[in-house]
Formats: sequence, C-alpha cells, structure tokens
Amino acid sequence: MHELSVAESILEIVKENTSDVLPSKVKRVKVRLGELAGVVADSLEFSFTAITAGTSLEKCSLEVEKVGIVVKCGDCGLESPLERFAFKCPTCGGDHVEVISGDDLQVVEIEIADEG
Ligand SMILES: [Zn+2]
Repeated sequence: MHELSVAESILEIVKENTSDVLPSKVKRVKVRLGELAGVVADSLEFSFTAITAGTSLEKCSLEVEKVGIVVKCGDCGLESPLERFAFKCPTCGGDHVEVISGDDLQVVEIEIADEG
C-alpha cells in the first residue's frame, strides 16, 4: 500500500524536525499533496493515524492540503493552473506544457503545542 510508506516518510520527517521537543507536544503536521502525486488523501490520513496510534506521537494529526496542477507553457511561457485533465495551456491553448507543480508531496508545517 503506497499511502502507508508515504505516511511513514512523513512521520520520519516529523521526528527529524521535532527532536528537540516532547513528542506529545507535536499537534499537527500539514502536508501539501499534488493532484498528480498518486496518493489518496483519505488513505494517507488513515495510514498516518494507524502508524502513530499508541506511540508518543499519537496526538499528532495529519492535515492534507490538496494542490492543483500548474503547468508551464512552452509556447507562451505562462504558468497556469490546470483545471481539467487536458494537457493544454489554459491561456493560449498550446500543447507544449510541462508540469511544474502538482506531482509532489511536501511537508509544509509542523505545529507544536505551546503548553502542556
Ligand atoms: Zn500558452
């Protein structure tokens, strides 16, 4: 299951970045998920909950922010969000587009509780 290994990678990133705080204070990790990353957000959240359950990081919740696809057009040079799965530049209609955003998954924020 792909989402499980992705959840494990996210957990590793959380651990690496919070080594100086108590794990129980880590409240939330926010990731940005590209539409083309091939990861199902619900499954990812489920997997993350499953692997943190019963550990010192069980209070840490995963928040997934979905990111649309952005393409760069080789004809007019503009970067535009892609609204449908038609690989054409939404601006000029050119089909020499390159995906520059939307195919990745990124940890963007780790929230730590202030108190207790
Ligand atoms: Zn264009």
